[in-house]
Amino acid sequence: MLEKHSRIVNKKMIEAIRKQKCELCGAPAYAQPHHINTVGSGGGDIPENLIQLCADCHMGAHDGRISKKELMKIVAKREGISPTEVYRINRRAMGYDV
Ligand SMILES: [Zn+2]
Ligand SMILES: [Zn+2]
Repeated sequence: MLEKHSRIVNKKMIEAIRKQKCELCGAPAYAQPHHINTVGSGGGDIPENLIQLCADCHMGAHDGRISKKELMKIVAKREGISPTEVYRINRRAMGYDV
């Protein structure tokens, strides 16, 4: 689909995050979770980078209607950590020195 770079996929992690509902609006969602930081930019298959979105919200996340910040807030709540921590964990997973 939109993520075109080949890589090792952590299917288990993706399945664990995969839900039946959009985490943003609650609409039914059946596709694979969205990567907040795209795989192309180095985003990983970690819970802090994955969010289940319905088709509509997913499109919004890719065309900029929904900000990364907004998505990270939801992930932070789900993981029981602060949005700053989500940001840091993602940066670290992407190989940055935070
Ligand atoms: Zn939605
Ligand atoms: Zn996506």
